[in-house]
Amino acid sequence: MKRVLITGAAGFLGSHLCDRFLKEGCHVMGMDNLLTGDLGNIEHLFPLNEFEFYYHDVTKFVHVPGELDYILHFASPASPIDYLQMPIQTMKVGALGTHNLLGLAKEKGARMLIASTSEVYGDPLVHPQTEEYWGNVNPIGPRGVYDEAKRFQEAITMAYHNYHGVETRIVRIFNTYGPRMRVNDGRVLPAFFKQAIRGEGLTVFGDGSQTRSFCYVDDLVEGIYRLLHSDYHLPVNIGNPAEITIKEFGEEILALVGNPAAKLIYKPLPQDDPKQRQPNITKAREILGWEPQVSREEGLKRTYEYFKEVVELD
Ligand code: UDP
Repeated sequence: MKRVLITGAAGFLGSHLCDRFLKEGCHVMGMDNLLTGDLGNIEHLFPLNEFEFYYHDVTKFVHVPGELDYILHFASPASPIDYLQMPIQTMKVGALGTHNLLGLAKEKGARMLIASTSEVYGDPLVHPQTEEYWGNVNPIGPRGVYDEAKRFQEAITMAYHNYHGVETRIVRIFNTYGPRMRVNDGRVLPAFFKQAIRGEGLTVFGDGSQTRSFCYVDDLVEGIYRLLHSDYHLPVNIGNPAEITIKEFGEEILALVGNPAAKLIYKPLPQDDPKQRQPNITKAREILGWEPQVSREEGLKRTYEYFKEVVELD
């Protein structure tokens, strides 16, 4: 039985990864300091013998008892308003947290996969983004704390791979959505669903012409699972190339929710907001035989079912 440590286990992606690895018959150690995570996302796992929870901040020395096969580092504030409010913690978890976990991977002989991000490409001048593109990041802008922590994370991961021979994997995650996103995390999908359900204005930032490409969480988890088990140690984009403007995205959510009181309203564009983003997934297709299976139409329907319930409780 494989033993897996998942950091950020109580978060959106971490909790879905816990589910997947348990389903695959692994022993899962979930770790979280609950800064942005929510125990509600994993409370269904607590009765399981093969699940353990560690309440711990990975920026402090990390230890888990026994053997360890895999580490998946998914702890980090991940929405722009989170890292604006928690800039130092964001830098520390990407930098010091990754260093601690690489040390643990080396000690245990574990393979480590890090959650990198399309944000390493910044406001990209190459479109769609391939893994070879070095990016266009403002290091001292509001997003710099996240982007540079993740870039440092990739660099130190490569250093541990090259210098210490640690087995490492790097996934660059593009915008992902699905159940368990926090209603108030400030990202566009939870904001739009909440506003549409409540019959409020959907807050489109700027003129809404900026683009994103949204991947359903189950597809992302499948891509990560395949990457971990591959023998490829360089970064791989995982995302859904179906690109859409934020204005059109708002219109899709309005149509899905069908609340006549809701409509688009316009707010100022935040500083350094990337104008376009779309993954080139040739590598994932060729190396992992992976591509997304869930259309935006289907994924949004499933996600709406979740938000209907949680918005009511909010
Ligand atoms: N956005 C928006 N309204 C909101 C929240 C976000 O128009 O209430 C825009 C934001 O400016 C960006 C896009 O939606 O262009 C995606 O933002 P999000 O915070 O979800 O993630 P990002 O891809 O920017 O990290």
